Amino acid sequence: MRRIHNIIFAPDFQTVEKINGYLSRYGKLEVDGRPTLSLATDEMLKALLDISEEIFLVPSHIWTPWFSLFGSNSGFDSIEECLGDLKDKVFALETGLSSDPAMNWRLSSLDNYTLISNSDAHSPNRLGREANVFKEELDYFGLRDVLKNKDRSKFLYTIEFYPEEGKYHYDGHRRCQVRLSPKEARVNNNICPVCSRPITIGVLHRVEMLADRPEGYVPENSIPYKNLIPLEEIIAEAMGVGRETVGVKNEYQRLCRIFGSEFEVLLNTPLEELRNNTQERIALGIEKARRGEVIIKPGYDGEFGVIKLFEEKSPTGAQLGLF
Ligand SMILES: [Zn+2]
Ligand SMILES: [Zn+2]
Repeated sequence: MRRIHNIIFAPDFQTVEKINGYLSRYGKLEVDGRPTLSLATDEMLKALLDISEEIFLVPSHIWTPWFSLFGSNSGFDSIEECLGDLKDKVFALETGLSSDPAMNWRLSSLDNYTLISNSDAHSPNRLGREANVFKEELDYFGLRDVLKNKDRSKFLYTIEFYPEEGKYHYDGHRRCQVRLSPKEARVNNNICPVCSRPITIGVLHRVEMLADRPEGYVPENSIPYKNLIPLEEIIAEAMGVGRETVGVKNEYQRLCRIFGSEFEVLLNTPLEELRNNTQERIALGIEKARRGEVIIKPGYDGEFGVIKLFEEKSPTGAQLGLF
């Protein structure tokens, strides 16, 4: 069975009431923030557009193995296959934490879509880990038109997690702690070398399966992006403690108060000012993050990847191999 997650945008609460009335026929809406509905996406979209032509739908985290449009386990191979005649009613796709725009640019079939990046936040401090940056404040219709027209004068860039940090970037088998690059997975015929069961095919592998362009290709009308590491993670690593500790929370709040926001600290505050206001190592961490000097252990099979800024004892090269 195919299962995919979608985001539904509506112009006002009156419309939302109507949407809820319709969707509640297919599942219990109040059970979960993401209700499960026994309803095909094309059929749902058709009904939504009957409720109001102003509604629009964006498939979410389109590459994750489960619950996504192109997912290796329960997705489709093309947008047409999922939406049929209604494919032209969808004009934006959400790239999810495990893929960044550059990976999506490898599919020419996605050139006409506007790629957005949302946080998929399940708790408040994860809000804004990915974001869409616009030139000016937009109302519902303004936002819709920017996305519909892929208006590069107003949609400036997206903020991205390092895709390797997402839970399904690489291939592998979490129970056996086996992490494989797509190439390593192919050598193993997509079978776990520990338990001989099929591995979970991650986002990078799935993109490579459907891509018709080489790595590094940049389409002409693409919206640029920036990779960020959440400030709490930088502080935690610099201090050598866990992200959820009081010291990290306090320093995070303090820096956001001084400089205005987390994005300000990560993107714009001059390094000199950071050095004058926080520990040397935290300022250095932010500097390294800005330069993209990161050490990466990609996520796989539901296990988050790890992005490090400071060397550990083992050489970095070994960290990409088998675990
Ligand atoms: Zn989801
Ligand atoms: Zn296994």
